Amino acid sequence: MILLDDGKNSPADQAGLEAEGAMANLPTTSLYRKRITELLRVGVSPREMYRAGQEDGCQPELVNLTDILFFLRDKRLGRMSVIQESNSHAIFKIYDCVCCELGTEHNCHYMAGFLAGALRVTGRPDTVKVREVSCGGGPGCDCVFEAHW
Ligand SMILES: [Zn+2]
Repeated sequence: MILLDDGKNSPADQAGLEAEGAMANLPTTSLYRKRITELLRVGVSPREMYRAGQEDGCQPELVNLTDILFFLRDKRLGRMSVIQESNSHAIFKIYDCVCCELGTEHNCHYMAGFLAGALRVTGRPDTVKVREVSCGGGPGCDCVFEAHW
């Protein structure tokens, strides 16, 4: 279940959002999507892809998991739901993962890195590592990521 109530939308807007799909009214691209496209074009290594995602995930405005969820949605990077969470791990499912959509050859390393950066900046230790445990492998698919710290 994706949490949509961020307090910014009126009930009418909220209903509209749900009716049209959560991403319908948002820009079709973002700085981050352009960066991923460029990295894929250049053909960087999985490690570099992860690192780029991690840099982009370290957004100072992110405070909690809900912020991460909205950031991913608003920047057209994917729709996140939290499957499990404890004080040492979390499992996320990303619907419409940007990496799969834009065509990644080495699974979704950018997204794994992004989640790692975002988890750090929202208070998890620097030891946090994220790996993709299941990749949808194409546009419109779901990917599952596991974080440990
Ligand atoms: Zn994937």
